[in-house]
Amino acid sequence: MPPPKTYRAEGLVLKNIPFGEADLLVTLYSREFGKLKAVAKGARRSNSKIVGHFEPLTVAKLSMARGRTLDIVNQVEVTENFSSLKSDLTTLARGLYVAELVDGFGSEASSNQQLYDLAIETLGAIQQHPSWELVLRRFELHLMRASGFMPELFHCVDCRKPLEPEQHRFSPDAGGTLCLDCAPYGVQIRSLSLRALKVLRLLHRSRIADLPQLQAHESLEQEVKSLLSTAISYWMDKEIRTNSFLNHLERLPKAEVSS
Ligand SMILES: [Zn+2]
Repeated sequence: MPPPKTYRAEGLVLKNIPFGEADLLVTLYSREFGKLKAVAKGARRSNSKIVGHFEPLTVAKLSMARGRTLDIVNQVEVTENFSSLKSDLTTLARGLYVAELVDGFGSEASSNQQLYDLAIETLGAIQQHPSWELVLRRFELHLMRASGFMPELFHCVDCRKPLEPEQHRFSPDAGGTLCLDCAPYGVQIRSLSLRALKVLRLLHRSRIADLPQLQAHESLEQEVKSLLSTAISYWMDKEIRTNSFLNHLERLPKAEVSS
């Protein structure tokens, strides 16, 4: 039996680009079908009823028609637009970073509800709690987990011995933690402090609501950020565009960012 000509989906808009004279080509991450690309006809006309419905970081219920090459959006109803997240430059940049990583890790035509729920939950937390720095670190770790790339945090990935409570090493391409006796050939190896390993394990088992109880000194947060960034970059295998913008914002005095 041929697939139905129309279908419904709920999705998060990751990005859009102008398409044809007045249309948009929209990339969404949907709860039901994973990553989708679809054309929103007339979405760039100033008098269109759907202007703004396909901004990145908008959640919508959609009715779509299957096309020969690209699907077409028939109807759209916005259910969440994260308006206060978008009103601040830092939280907007963090939200766009989440969208870029979901775009990078998400597969087309392959549902991953865990990844969808993680993205929506993380955007909600960024909006509600702009000062929670560890939200993005938890997202990075759980994104790898939901995508099947979770780094090992309890055993040496080479000799398989359980890790003793001491200094270790970390290698994203070897698959996670290494004991000090093991150094597989040809992989990148980073040092990993016991404190950073503990933070990674805590982030691994934490719910978002638990994050305020996780206090980490700035230098420790930087170490965890750098380790996760190495792993994310390794699996994404391309430059993360929003990263340099986020780092730039973090270096600016707060008053300058909000003006
Ligand atoms: Zn080992």
